[in-house]
Amino acid sequence: MTTTAFDMSAQLSRRARTMNASAIREILKITQQPDVISFAGGLPAPELFPIEDVRRAADDVLTRYGPAALQYSTTEGHAPLREWIAMRHGIPAANVQIVTGSQQGLDLLGKVLIDEGDTVLVEAPTYLGALQSFQPYLPRYAQIPTDDGGIDVEALERVLHEQQAQGQRVKLLYAIPNFQNPTGRTLSLERRQALVELTARHGLLIIEDDPYGELRFSGEPAPSLYELGLALAGGDPERNHVIYSSSFSKTLVPGLRDAWVQAAGPVIAKLIQAKQGSDLHTPTFNQMIITELLPILPRQIETVKRVYGERGQRMIARISEHFPAGVEFTQPQGGMFLWVTLPQGLDTTALLPRAVERKVAYVPGSPFFALGGGENTMRLSYSSAAPEKIDQGMRALGETLSEALA
Ligand code: PMP
Repeated sequence: MTTTAFDMSAQLSRRARTMNASAIREILKITQQPDVISFAGGLPAPELFPIEDVRRAADDVLTRYGPAALQYSTTEGHAPLREWIAMRHGIPAANVQIVTGSQQGLDLLGKVLIDEGDTVLVEAPTYLGALQSFQPYLPRYAQIPTDDGGIDVEALERVLHEQQAQGQRVKLLYAIPNFQNPTGRTLSLERRQALVELTARHGLLIIEDDPYGELRFSGEPAPSLYELGLALAGGDPERNHVIYSSSFSKTLVPGLRDAWVQAAGPVIAKLIQAKQGSDLHTPTFNQMIITELLPILPRQIETVKRVYGERGQRMIARISEHFPAGVEFTQPQGGMFLWVTLPQGLDTTALLPRAVERKVAYVPGSPFFALGGGENTMRLSYSSAAPEKIDQGMRALGETLSEALA
């Protein structure tokens, strides 16, 4: 009997062929040895999850809603949850779409906004997961340089003119203004204003990804780009060119996969259709549990901010103590990450095995750049590290860097 060799990989779509295994996932394999202290992952602190509250909320939801908690429900999302979000942001519930993690929001936004060849402007560096979400819709990327004040708006204007001069259609800017993943940086107030005005003038959409905004542990809060866009549009959410996304992943729990997108009606209408094709709706039960947990949200946010603030401060103190001169690092005012820049010529990917030998791990920075660069950078996460591990880990990393620089 003969069998015909069937090459399944030859059947894959062009879209699928553009997908890559996350560079980070590959890198993380070597960091996952049991005795290695890893600052590589980006997980919220599990010991802060409000387990008893979730247990009680699940029970209450089943008592109150019965089978409706386990039934199919509307694509738009659980009405009380949408209304709560809408009220907090001063917009109608019709401008709020519940999504299964903001990661799904990014995928659906890519699907409804990006045509093949459209230019998407991204920060250099940016959130790798957004690049993964957008990639199958075949955009071109242009990188915008960033510094300690976030996006360099003058550089953005230059890039915009260059792209337009080349006849490229610049579709949108994807930005993480608060405690950015991966750098921990925050966009300054002046730049927020300038960015919103500049993009409005050029008819450029902004996707503002804000999963960390509530987790500010120092400094003064700044208005979101969405709020500034709304003000510029005279308070009319239908004329706001900023699309906003946030999540309960970092404030409550990530595993229930509850997040939302705020946008003008035509975008929401298409998100609903795209989401129907994707998962019909975000799990009913999870949305009801999250809604039930809203009263404990302020207390939970306070706890998370306090703990991340302590861990972040501790990491900065140990870095200042142990890292050699010439190494720069960001000083985040919130969120889960900080960013380290080594002198030019050093390569953090090449250095990682040496760090792992000393039982410490980080994520090299270059995968966070859409168009390459950042070989001398790394991301450190302090959110889920115990204090003594931060002490031990930063000493080991300091030794690794001192050796590399010697
Ligand atoms: N955007 C950014 C910037 C993130 O860091 C993350 C999570 N690491 C997400 C989106 C996805 O979050 P979620 O899907 O859990 O809401």
